[in-house]
Order: sequence, then C-alpha cells, then structure tokens
Amino acid sequence: TPSTRPAALLEDLDRRHVLHPHERGHRSQRRVMVRGQGSTVWDASGREFLDALGGGIWVAQVGHGRQELADAAARQISELAHFTSFFEYGTDKSALLAERLTTLAPAGMDRVFFTCSGSEAVDTALKLARLHHHHRGEPDRNWIIARHYGYHGTTYGSGTATGIPNMQVAVGPNLPHVEKVMPPYPYRPEMYGGQGTTEFLLNELSETIERLGAGNIAAMIGEPVLGGGGVIAPPADYWPRVRELLRSHGILLIADEVITGYGRIGSWFDSAPRGMDADIITTAKGLTSGYVPMGAVLMREEIAASVAGGERDFFHGHTYSGHPVAAAVALANLDIIEKESLLARSLAISEWFRTGLAGAAELPSVGDVRVEGAMAGIELVADKATREPVTDTLALAVADELYETHGVITRNYGPTLVLSPPLVFERAEAERTTSAITEVLGRLDVASGRIAPR
Ligand code: PMP
Repeated sequence: TPSTRPAALLEDLDRRHVLHPHERGHRSQRRVMVRGQGSTVWDASGREFLDALGGGIWVAQVGHGRQELADAAARQISELAHFTSFFEYGTDKSALLAERLTTLAPAGMDRVFFTCSGSEAVDTALKLARLHHHHRGEPDRNWIIARHYGYHGTTYGSGTATGIPNMQVAVGPNLPHVEKVMPPYPYRPEMYGGQGTTEFLLNELSETIERLGAGNIAAMIGEPVLGGGGVIAPPADYWPRVRELLRSHGILLIADEVITGYGRIGSWFDSAPRGMDADIITTAKGLTSGYVPMGAVLMREEIAASVAGGERDFFHGHTYSGHPVAAAVALANLDIIEKESLLARSLAISEWFRTGLAGAAELPSVGDVRVEGAMAGIELVADKATREPVTDTLALAVADELYETHGVITRNYGPTLVLSPPLVFERAEAERTTSAITEVLGRLDVASGRIAPR
C-alpha cells in the first residue's frame, strides 16, 4: 500500500489541523495524496488518479516520481544542503542555474533573481520595476498596470495585481497604485463594445496611461496567455502593439510566465513568441517541476544594473534565495526537459487535446474550447447562443464528477474547466482525459443545473 497510515486517519488529521483557505464548495471530505509516478497519483486509500492538472496546479512538467530528481536532491543535501544567496554569498548550483536560464531565455535576459515561489517572483518584479525608475531619476513612476482575469499570486503585491473576481478580497487595503485594464477575451467580444478586441484594448490602455500620467507609471504586468483566468490567448497583434505603446512611454513590461514557462506551450518561454519582448520575466512551477519550491525572475542587464548601482540599496532577498537543493533539482529538471524533448511533446499533447475535445465542443453546455500547448480551457455555458456562463458551483460539480467517476484530476476556474498535465502525458492518457470530459459533459443538463447519473 502507498501509505502505512490508514486513509481515514490521515484525512481526519488534515481536516482537523491543516488550514485550507480555498475549501472549494466548503467540502468536508479531504483528498490526501501519498504517491505519484509519471502522470498517475495515488491517494491515501490506494485509489489511483490521472493527474491532468500537474500536481493539481499547473506544475509537474517532467511527471511524478523521477528518480533523477530525487538523486540530484539527495546528492546536494549531502554536499551542501543550504547556504543563502542573500547578501554576499552564492552557491555553485545557483550560479550554474542562473547561467543556464540566461541561455534558454530570450536574448538580453542576462540576470536572474531566485525566489521560493511565483508570488514572490511577481513581488520582486514589481519592486524591481519601481526601483529601476527611481534609480534613473524618475521617482514618481510608481503605478503598475495589471489586468482583469490575470492571476499573479496571493502575497499582498501579487494578489493586488491579480484580477480574478473574488480573490484578494476582505484582507484590508491592498497595494496602492495598481490599476487594472481589460484583457483580450476573444470568446466574449461584447466586452469591447463593437470595436475590434485589440483596437479597444489599445485605446483603453492609451486612455489609462494618459489618465495616470505616463511619468507616473512603472510597468505593466501580464501573462502571455491567461492561465487561471481561463486559458485565454490574445490575438496575434495584441502583445506587439501593447509593447510598442508602453515603450513609447518608457513603461516596462513584465511577462508573468509562472505557468507558460519551461515548455508548457512548446517553447522555453512563451512571451517572446507572442511578441511581448519583456523587460522582466517571472517564473516558478515548471522550473523544478514542483519537486522543490523555487521561482526565478529573469531581467535585462540594464534593470539589474540600475537597481544594483543606485544610491539606495535594493534590500530584497530570502533566507532560501538560490537554495542549492532547489537549484540542483532545477538543473536536473531542465536536463530531463531537454533530453526527453518535452517542448515538442507539449505540442503533441496540444494535438491530442484538440482532436479529443472536438466532440465535446459540439455539446450544448460547451461554449468554447481553447487549447494552447499542453493546456486547455473548456468554458461551460448555460446557454450556447447567449454565452451565459454556468455557475461556478456547476463547473465545480463537473470537476468533482470527473474525479469521482473517472479518477481524472482537473479543476474549474470560474466556468472554465482546465487541463494542464505533466508534459510526459501520453496519448492514451490524453484520450482517457478527453473522453471522460466528453462523457461527463454529455450528462450535464444546464437547464436543471445537474449532472444526470451514469
Ligand atoms: N503567476 C501565475 C501566472 C500563476 O499562475 C501563479 C500560480 N498559479 C502565480 C504567479 C503564483 O505562484 P505561486 O503559487 O507559486 O506563488
């Protein structure tokens, strides 16, 4: 058996002692996972699940149970388990990893700052952007432009930049000087009042810059493709035109690649192919495939030079910055992504999802199917003609039904059911996922708000 402790006891311990702020649907039943191999995980009772959401949260690039990563961690723990990269120190592994990342990143991204999470990476980027301007003699550039439907994390800074409704509420005043604009959402053109999507968004951005004053704005932050917002890709001309407008006003662009980085959409980073030409890139998740916590902020040399060379010190770092065990695992993880050609595999998964979801797209409850590399968003609607979304509760019920009856792990973000599996996902696993989804959605009766029994 995968665990020596009885499942009921573990579930009870978790329920009694672990705080789960997002108790989805306020469920009382816990799901305690104990083992993983490839794209399969087992819970404490020994039941097997197909992990179509990468560790339940868009991660696990190289899959579960990789001995190479366990070995890399064990070797590093024996050699030097921890020494901080805060202050005047560094480690061999963090230096090697930083160099490796700069070779994979878009040209000009020559400096790296290590964090322990994506949220910290985003906070770091926001601070870097402001400090960069301050050190160049523009201390009023404090505003950050973020987007509705964007997801950037849950610290005060990254949480404030997050624009998904109902997140970061009731936690007191948020970070000041953050303004939200609309994102592209091609399935919902009514958001743009009859104008073309990019046209509307560029006008809105121009007006926002004018209203705040260009000389008061530090940066705009955005995901190349919205992740938690529902897997929404922009029209091809969106990022190049946003980039051009921002540059003409001296405003930096931060690409949040915490989801899209490290092969999720077929390349190491997705911001450059989308025309973002970012000044700062935030990453985490796929950097270590989740085996150990680590994030990395990549930046142009001029950003690093301005913050390091100014009269005011950039006091920023963590006890675990550049953690050598995390860095050793990241290096081994990048080796696997390369050796097993997982960037190409993510495009294969894309095709399997596209083909496998073609039938589901025709169902009355499915408004839009969006596949971007090895991720997919299936937006559920109560009415296909009006595109009225289903309730979050009903979308959650679909994810639960997939879990209970098919043993397939997915999640709903609002009305959108999301897939983001390990990049080692096999064709048969993709097919099992898409046929389970088609089967469950075939039983979804949006009129009554129920899923009919099988
Ligand atoms: N940015 C994006 C785009 C994300 O999707 C996430 C997490 N889902 C984060 C930042 C925050 O990362 P973390 O949960 O590691 O703090």
